[in-house]
Amino acid sequence: MALRHASAFALRTWPLGEADLIVEMFSLERGRIRVVARSARRPKSRFGSALQPFTRSHVVYFQREKDDLGRLSSAEIERSYFECLATLETAPLAAYMAELIIGFTPEHDPAPTLFRLTSAVLDSLESGADPELMARYFEIWILRISGLLPDLSHCANCGRDLARDAWVAEAVDGFVCGRECGGGGSVTRLAPPARTLLAVVLAHSPRELAGGEVSRGAVRALEGATGVFIRAQLDRTPRSLRVLRRLRGGVR
Ligand SMILES: [Zn+2]
Repeated sequence: MALRHASAFALRTWPLGEADLIVEMFSLERGRIRVVARSARRPKSRFGSALQPFTRSHVVYFQREKDDLGRLSSAEIERSYFECLATLETAPLAAYMAELIIGFTPEHDPAPTLFRLTSAVLDSLESGADPELMARYFEIWILRISGLLPDLSHCANCGRDLARDAWVAEAVDGFVCGRECGGGGSVTRLAPPARTLLAVVLAHSPRELAGGEVSRGAVRALEGATGVFIRAQLDRTPRSLRVLRRLRGGVR
């Protein structure tokens, strides 16, 4: 049995037996891991609030094989986002980010760039960045890091230059030059403000972006495109995204 150390965000938990929890975590050193936290549901648990969503802790755990659940020995909080993730807008966003991390990363596969992205977005939320803008930021960059953000310079079907106009095509999971290249599926025009915002997101840190002026209309318009590509990767609309949309009175 190996003793492991890691810096890890808690993503979600499930009850196990009478007092234990299974905790899914996203660690810098080993990617996504699942560990059992013994007696974590007792009032005076030694893990305290370290297992709250997106609290980052230095964890020590035992692991036999990769497929086995690890056993959490200790969790010392490095950074807590508890307060900033406790609002009606940020709590569902945290659940959405966790669902994306789980959907985009295999277990036991380090993803240090995604780990840094997660930290940067959380830091910006804590400094008061707009949660909806940060949701788009996180979506675009998790697609980009995973190599799944489609090329916006050329039509995915015919290769034509997309300098003037781009459309989001569900059937080809990419940007195309018009309906005729949409592969027979649903095709939506990428509105110019959404296109500009996409370029801005790709060129700036979340903190830089949060400091500038971004219109709500552009954020919403971009959501249509990111939603198509996220759905293509996960084969469904993330449940937490539906909650987010419902909470704000939903576009869909
Ligand atoms: Zn085309």
